[in-house]
Amino acid sequence: MATTQTHIRTQWDTLHRNGPFPIKQHLVTRLESNALMPSKFDRYNDAATEIRRLISDSQLQQHGFRPFGSRWSMSSIAHQKDRVHQNNLMHLDLPILPADLHAQTGYKAENLFFFQCGNTVREISQVLEAHGKSLKASGASNGQTIAGCISTGVHGSAWQEGAVQDYIVGLNLIIGPKPEDVVYLERHNKPALSDAFAAKIQARVIRNDNLFHAALVGLGSFGFIHGVVIEAEDRFLLHRYVRKIDKTMAEQLAVTMDFINSQFKITEEIDAQGNPLLPYHFKIFINPYTNDNQYVVEAMYKKTPYHTNYPDPLAGIEKSLYRDLIYLLIKISEKFPNSIPWFIKRLEKEILPEVDPAEEKIIGTLYEIFWDAPYQGPAFACSVGVDHKDSIKALNLLTKMTREEGPVPGIFAMRFVRQSTATLAFTRFPITCVIEIDGIIWKGTNNLISLESYGRRMVEVLKNNQIKFTSHWGKNLAWDFPGLIPYMYGDKAKQWKNYRNSLLSDEMAKLFSNDFLDITGLSLKEANIPPNLIVSLPSDSP
Ligand SMILES: Cc1cc2nc3c(=O)[nH]c(=O)nc-3n(C[C@H](O)[C@H](O)[C@H](O)COP(=O)(O)OP(=O)(O)OC[C@H]3O[C@@H](n4cnc5c(N)ncnc54)[C@H](O)[C@@H]3O)c2cc1C
Repeated sequence: MATTQTHIRTQWDTLHRNGPFPIKQHLVTRLESNALMPSKFDRYNDAATEIRRLISDSQLQQHGFRPFGSRWSMSSIAHQKDRVHQNNLMHLDLPILPADLHAQTGYKAENLFFFQCGNTVREISQVLEAHGKSLKASGASNGQTIAGCISTGVHGSAWQEGAVQDYIVGLNLIIGPKPEDVVYLERHNKPALSDAFAAKIQARVIRNDNLFHAALVGLGSFGFIHGVVIEAEDRFLLHRYVRKIDKTMAEQLAVTMDFINSQFKITEEIDAQGNPLLPYHFKIFINPYTNDNQYVVEAMYKKTPYHTNYPDPLAGIEKSLYRDLIYLLIKISEKFPNSIPWFIKRLEKEILPEVDPAEEKIIGTLYEIFWDAPYQGPAFACSVGVDHKDSIKALNLLTKMTREEGPVPGIFAMRFVRQSTATLAFTRFPITCVIEIDGIIWKGTNNLISLESYGRRMVEVLKNNQIKFTSHWGKNLAWDFPGLIPYMYGDKAKQWKNYRNSLLSDEMAKLFSNDFLDITGLSLKEANIPPNLIVSLPSDSP
C-alpha cells in the first residue's frame, strides 16, 4: 500500500526562499513497491486511495490540504497554513493503447501519454524520448512537476504553440474522500480516452469543455490533480541562435510578430524565395539600465524530422539567468543601491546568453535546449502578460519605473505565447507577451525599494496607463492589490469560481483553498451559480 510520512513542521519555503511560511504538517506519499504490486494501474489506484484517506483525515481535523510540486513558484500559491503534500515521489506513467481511445477521438494513441502528477518535465521528456516523441513546449528549464506546471500556466516562448496546459487533453482529479470523488475530465468536443480507460483508473467521467478549461489552470485549488493525459508529438530539433539586433527592429517584431516581412534574417533560416522563416521561439533580453540601441535576442527554428547527426548542445547552453555570481551583486547592492546599474552592466555577459560572433547555432531537442536551472539560492521573478501589441508601451513604462524608483537587481526579458483556452490562463491575449524581470531577492532599505513595493508599483503603473495585463500565477506581485483579479480576468474569474464551486462541495472548496486564493478573492463563492455546469456532454453537443 502507498504510505504517507507526516512531518510535524512549523515552516515551509519555496525553492528560492520567498517565505518562510507557517505550516502544521508536511506530508510525503510513497507508492507501493514495484515488487509487491507489479501492475502500474494497481499502484496508481492504490495511491488514489491514499490521497482520499489524507483528504478525509484533513477534513476531520478541519485542516486545509495543498499539494505542491517542485516548489518552484515564487508567489505563495503552493503554500497552505495547515497541510502541504509533496508529490514528487508519485511519478508513474501509464500506457495508453489504441484500444483505450474514445470512439470519436481525433488523437493518435501513439501521441497520448498518461503521467502521474509528480513527474517532472525532465522525467516526462525522458519517457517521451524513449518513444521518439517530445513535449510541444516547456518553460526555460525542466525541474517543475507536470501538475505544478499546469496549475500556474507554465510557458516558454513558443508563440505558435502555447503553454504547458495547452497540450493537456485529460485530467484525473481527486475532489474528495469518497470513491466517486475520483473524476476524469476531458473536453466533450475533443474527447481522448474511452470510458473503459477511465474505469481502469476507477474514475467517473465528465466530458465538458468549460469545466475542463476551468480545471486546466486550477491554481492548486480544483482538487488534487492525480494524473494528466498529454498530447506529445514526434521528436524535433531546434536550431538556436543568439544575436544582437537593432532595438527598433526588436520592438517592431514584438508589436507585430511579423517575421516574414521583417529585416530580421538568419542566413540559414530562409525559405526558397529568401524570406525569413517563422521562428518557433523568440525572446528579447533588456537591461533596463543601459541606453544601448541594440537588444540581445534568442530565436529558435523547429526542424523535422529528427536526426541524430548534431554536436552535443549541452556545453553551449550552460549560460543561465540564475548565476551564483549574481548573489554577490545583491549583497553589494543592498549596501550600495546606486551601484546596481553599474554591476548589471559589468555582469551582462554572465547574465545574458552569449552572442556568438561566429554566428554559429546550437542544435538540440526541446529537452536538451531547455535544460536544468543551476541556481538554488534566493530569487525573485515578476512576470506580467500583455497583448503583444501593447508590449513595448508596457515595457517602456516598467523599465522607466524601475530606473526611477529602483534600481532593483534584475534584468528584463520578453517572451511570446499563443492564447490558451484555459479559463484563468494568464496567457489570455491572442499572442501574450510575457514581460518578466528576474533576479536575486534583495532586502528593501531606506535607500532601496522593497520587492513588495516594486510589485505594487508594477500593478499601479500598468493600471494607471490603461494597459490590460495579467500575471504569472507563480511569480511575485502585489497579489492583494484591490480589484486586481476582476481587472485582469473580468467575468472569466466568476466563471472559474462557478465551475470550481459546482465540482467541489463547500467543504472541499475550503479544504483546497489557501491564503493566496483568499487574498485574490478567488475562494469566495458567487451567488446564483447556474445549474448543470458539470454535466457530462455528448461529443456532438455545442
Ligand atoms: C528556475 C526557475 C525557472 C522558471 N522558469 C519558468 C519558465 O520558463 N516559464 C514559466 O512559466 N515559469 C517558470 N518558472 C515558474 C515555475 O515554473 C512555476 O511557478 C511552476 O508552477 C512551478 O512548478 P512546481 O512543480 O514547482 O509547482 P509548485 O510551485 O510546487 O506548485 C505550483 C502550483 O501547483 C499546485 N500543484 C502542484 N501539484 C499539484 C497537484 N498534484 N494537484 C493540484 N495542484 C497541484 C500547487 O498547489 C501550486 O498551486 C520558473 C521558476 C524557477 C524557479
